[in-house]
Amino acid sequence: MKAATVGAMALAVGLSFSTANTMAADKGTVGIAMPTKSLARWVDDGANMVKQFEAAGYDTDLQYAGDDIATQLRQIETMILKGADVLVIASIDGTALSSALELAADNDIKVIAYDRLIRDSGNVDYYATFDNFQVGVLQAKSLLKGLDFENAEGPLNIEVFGGSPDDNNAYFFYNGAMSVLQPLIDEGKLVVQSGQMGMDKVGIMYWDGASAQARMDNLLSAFYTDKPIHGVLTPNDSLAIGVISSLKGVGYGSGDMKMPIITGQDAEIANVKAMLKGEQYSTIFKDTRELARVTVGMVDALLGGSEPEINDTKTYDNGVKVVPSYLLKPFTVTIDNWEEILIDSGYYTMDQVK
Ligand code: BGC
Repeated sequence: MKAATVGAMALAVGLSFSTANTMAADKGTVGIAMPTKSLARWVDDGANMVKQFEAAGYDTDLQYAGDDIATQLRQIETMILKGADVLVIASIDGTALSSALELAADNDIKVIAYDRLIRDSGNVDYYATFDNFQVGVLQAKSLLKGLDFENAEGPLNIEVFGGSPDDNNAYFFYNGAMSVLQPLIDEGKLVVQSGQMGMDKVGIMYWDGASAQARMDNLLSAFYTDKPIHGVLTPNDSLAIGVISSLKGVGYGSGDMKMPIITGQDAEIANVKAMLKGEQYSTIFKDTRELARVTVGMVDALLGGSEPEINDTKTYDNGVKVVPSYLLKPFTVTIDNWEEILIDSGYYTMDQVK
């Protein structure tokens, strides 16, 4: 849609805002833009938010964009034109939303960045997320624990993967993990046989499992035909599935080829199953119910005229401003604590996992 058309439509819709709102649920409408349904976590995020927003008296307009940037832009513009009172956005490309956010600001609509920081725009009011650097730290620590690094006779061979380079979180996960691993690589206790490090070399666009599998295939055939690989720093569960398929393809996990230590993130059901089978060592659990709760609280405060609760005012500089944030705590999950963290907390039922 051309900017001029959007502007004209915004004006037209603006005139009917008040009527639309009195007909909607009492507290207003929340536009919720999610990136994709291809990962269960985003489906859960959306469902948790709709449930909690509706219980708090809001109407919701939940949209998924199939990881397509143009679709997400269009969805956000439509939410604005339909009279959303506030927007909650988990961006696909964190740098691609400036025009839509300008339209939001022109219509006095507040914007909350959800899970992923929206970059290069002053029109982002708050950020609700997890401690993303800490996610990376936990991943690296669990990699070391799985490798029994303290007792193992090194050096140990690892490879590192990064998330999607258009996702701000990917850099935080990577930097958090490398804050733990880099000193050990520098000391020669861990060896990245490919030498490939840095987000520009190890990032996997769109968090695509098939691309991770292809990269792992290449690494295995180029660097590991005559030596074993002991671990792979894998930043989320969709990439872990790809990496595991690649490793199994050349025989790891059977006979005397021990499955390398694989990390992950999101506690996806498929990956919990992979942990139970001994194929994946760990994942990181980020309770999307909690993220929904924090986000609903932010919206309630914003629309009620008070200050949302935040616990970080330093970390998330989006290129234009430091966005006030609320960071939730991530947890490492392994075969030793999965039941307590995922089942006892009611996040999954045993039937879903077994
Ligand atoms: C989220 C992760 C997720 C990844 C891929 C990141 O921004 O924080 O939880 O695995 O995107 O969707």
